[in-house]
Amino acid sequence: MLFSELADYYNRLEAVSSRLTMIDIMTELLNKSSKKEVAHIIYMTQGVLAPPFEGVEFGVAEKLVEEAISVATGYPKEEVEKDYKRQGDLGLTAQSLCGASKLKRMNANKNSVTEVYKTMLDIAQTSGSGSKDGKIRMLANLIAAATPLEAKYMARYPLGQLRLGLGDSTILEALSKAYTGSREFKGQLERAYNLCSDLGTIGEELSAGGPKAIEEFKVTLFKPIRPALAERLPTAEAIIERMKGRCAVEQKYDGFRCQIHKSGSRIKLFSRRLEETTEMFPDIIKAVQNEVRANKIIFEGEALAFNEATNEFFPFQETIQRKRKHGVDEKASEMPLHLFAFDLMYLEGEDYIGKPYERRREALEHVLKSSKTIIPSTMILTSSAKELDDFFRTSVTNGLEGIVAKDLTAPYVAGARKFSWIKMKRSYRGELSDTLDLVIIGYYLGRGSRAEFQFGGLLCAVYNSSKDVFETITRIGTGFSEAQMREFKQELDKIRVKAKPPRVDAMMEPDFWVYPKYVITVKADEITKSPTHTCGREKLADGTEVGYALRFPRIVGEETVRPDKSIEEATTTKEVIELFNQQKKVGVEEE
Ligand code: AMP
Repeated sequence: MLFSELADYYNRLEAVSSRLTMIDIMTELLNKSSKKEVAHIIYMTQGVLAPPFEGVEFGVAEKLVEEAISVATGYPKEEVEKDYKRQGDLGLTAQSLCGASKLKRMNANKNSVTEVYKTMLDIAQTSGSGSKDGKIRMLANLIAAATPLEAKYMARYPLGQLRLGLGDSTILEALSKAYTGSREFKGQLERAYNLCSDLGTIGEELSAGGPKAIEEFKVTLFKPIRPALAERLPTAEAIIERMKGRCAVEQKYDGFRCQIHKSGSRIKLFSRRLEETTEMFPDIIKAVQNEVRANKIIFEGEALAFNEATNEFFPFQETIQRKRKHGVDEKASEMPLHLFAFDLMYLEGEDYIGKPYERRREALEHVLKSSKTIIPSTMILTSSAKELDDFFRTSVTNGLEGIVAKDLTAPYVAGARKFSWIKMKRSYRGELSDTLDLVIIGYYLGRGSRAEFQFGGLLCAVYNSSKDVFETITRIGTGFSEAQMREFKQELDKIRVKAKPPRVDAMMEPDFWVYPKYVITVKADEITKSPTHTCGREKLADGTEVGYALRFPRIVGEETVRPDKSIEEATTTKEVIELFNQQKKVGVEEE
């Protein structure tokens, strides 16, 4: 396929906001893709070069794209910058300056999708001294031979901002339609995707081996499994009732989630977001090598920094210092990590995902029998709410976050939040027991004393996973430090869009919309019903419509934009409704 055709599809995708229409356009695009190029097209559409765990990054800043546009069109850098300031989007700048290029245009572009993809990969992989000039040259060559529409996406792609509004779920649904003629196959595709976290591979397998290849798809070493997530309930009684009696209850540790893949001496670690973190944790790697009695294994746990002087674990705020790219070894000896292992997904060629918790735990304990650094999470088996509650209280007294109860008969549910794992966390008076992860979809200008920062607050949304849209839940207007206001303004300006972005469902209008990209963690006192927010909005008997909102929302600590969570991993509408119902129940019990 020619890149110009792909650019046409992107242009069509950008112009629509209905999810169904997006699926149809994407289906048409996939139908036209050959077996060889389907993976490339999927990665490009996701705005990446490879799945996140491969760690291929463009390493391209806006200034570099500006320079490439300047070289490709003959406009001086200052003019490119001026146009960018005016339009707020380097893609649009590339498009208009290409359309009015001062240079003689090369022949009409005949670059194929694969050629463009490969050049983009070269741009990403060029490193070392002088690499900046090389990257500029390669990008400029592409843009110089492009049509204005192609140039728009060529400039946006290396910045990771295609702005198409397509989520993984939409791509999966389109794959299902394109290769089986119906949306019914999406469940199977999702299952396979949860096992390898790589949409490109899924597209390739499906186009080469048909639905059968997907049905038979298995866990693969060194391709991370999308992590199982926990539901939450507020009381020990509710947990025992939901588990229908006997269950396992484990301590809940507040550190880094690590997924470990080992085959002989080859070992890799992946974070909760499935990025490779092998280099960051040499102490864990060494322990896996020396202390785990297995040749081929995939298992999971929570890593915590240990204070050898006091014989206690460091709190999370300290542990987080271990997540670094430089000075790794010094920090590792200052704050060695211990890993509390809590699940096993694969062992010596055998898939454990589908086996019940009891079997997985038994095998996990066996392989860790003689390990000192990697310890199975502390766990009890119980059917008594009192015993569960006592265990919870002791855990909290010992400085832990709470507990996670686990269904003894359930498989490992990759990539989903299900009641096979139920968490109960400590809460503070007058505060929701859990924080919420919200997606920033707009911001407000500052007034009064805030005017100088040009930032007065955020409009935030939760993710409605069944509709695949983002629904507003709160406007956060207070509690920002000056540094935070400055950083929000600076980062959000880069992703400003003129109109409500696709997949956003909102009734309020912020001063500026932003493309959904960043997730922030928010605390609140309560969830209330609200006529102005779209989260969980439904029609009441009297015809009025209400949704849910947060009371006294505030962001946690000094946090600003956080790239470690994807927008689809934000708190969901369903979770907000559950939290709302739980808060009601607790209230009733107290009365
Ligand atoms: P939360 O992030 O509050 O939704 O809680 C789920 C997280 O708790 C998981 O992603 C793990 O990183 C962490 N965790 C800590 N201890 C455990 C445990 N024993 N079992 C499962 N998850 C745990």
